[in-house]
Amino acid sequence: MSKFWSDFVKDLVPYVPGEQPKLANLVKLNTNENPYGPSPKAVEAMRAELGDSLRLYPDPNSDLLKHAVAEYYGVQTRQVFLGNGSDEVLAHIFHGLFQHDQPLLFPDISYSFYPVYCGLYGIPFEAVPLDEQFQIRVEDYARPNAGIIFPNPNAPTGCLLTLEAVEQLLTNSPDSVVVVDEAYIDFGGDTAIALVDRFPNLLVTQTLSKSRSLAGLRVGLAVGHPDLIEALERIKNSFNSYPIDRLAVVGATAAFADREYFDKTCRAVIDSREQLVAQLQGKGFEVLPSAANFIFARHPQRDAGELAAQLREQGVIVRHFKQARIAQFLRISIGTPEQNQALINAL
Ligand SMILES: *Cc1c(COP(=O)(O)O)cnc(C)c1O
Repeated sequence: MSKFWSDFVKDLVPYVPGEQPKLANLVKLNTNENPYGPSPKAVEAMRAELGDSLRLYPDPNSDLLKHAVAEYYGVQTRQVFLGNGSDEVLAHIFHGLFQHDQPLLFPDISYSFYPVYCGLYGIPFEAVPLDEQFQIRVEDYARPNAGIIFPNPNAPTGCLLTLEAVEQLLTNSPDSVVVVDEAYIDFGGDTAIALVDRFPNLLVTQTLSKSRSLAGLRVGLAVGHPDLIEALERIKNSFNSYPIDRLAVVGATAAFADREYFDKTCRAVIDSREQLVAQLQGKGFEVLPSAANFIFARHPQRDAGELAAQLREQGVIVRHFKQARIAQFLRISIGTPEQNQALINAL
């Protein structure tokens, strides 16, 4: 605390990201990074860009990437917004679309950045409890609200809501913006981008950090009605004109073009997930059904915090949240088959 701080900084409660350990040789299954590298074509494109061109600012509209995203999803470029990671896209959404009188609604167990953005932008919210099976109950969101946001699949549970359920939710709240945070959709769900032309209140966010293995590049996106996108562009152009740098534009564009590598690596993660679930169940763990690149599991006889600490001693790091309802769960990112086996051996 310092006398130089603005008043609102004193009350800020920042997000705490998963640990990025400095130690080598750890089996790192704690932050849902992809165990496989990015597309070699993305790496090649960034190498080619690395040179004198960095003297110049990037295209403020990132048109090359916008076109690639629009083409990939079969939408228009004016339905696409790009940001420095989907966290930045989410920040602009909270700032520009969720500040109203009613509370914002999101699940009690979900991405812990949401309440942080509410704090940053002074947005009232209500955390809506998941049901006993840790599923989102669509009916619970059919009440006055300033907006709805949830990850699909949900994080940290991994549980997927069907597109029909998403559609029901949109139909129930036609006068507020519904944001589907699809950070993990490529590991087993159908994207709600298919619904954007029918629902002007729908905004879908995605990231290249998970399924395209580019967490270090920081590229995220939103797809929705041009009026919603325009609100985000206004905020972006009042905040940072160049959130996507030159390397990111060409790397992300090449990553979208390389469908073959994307399909192959997503398939490998999904296959490993199914195998790891079976192995953990064999050790007595209960595992929630996951459509993501991580699983959420608890052991009826072992304390989750102690398990996480003992795994760490053996060089395997997983994520443990101290939050009440989920304090006995571990969130485990899917690694390579070798990393997953190291986890099983350590257990
Ligand atoms: C990882 C994650 C994000 C953020 O992704 P970035 O694009 O890396 O900022 C957003 N939402 C959820 C639910 C995530 O798990």
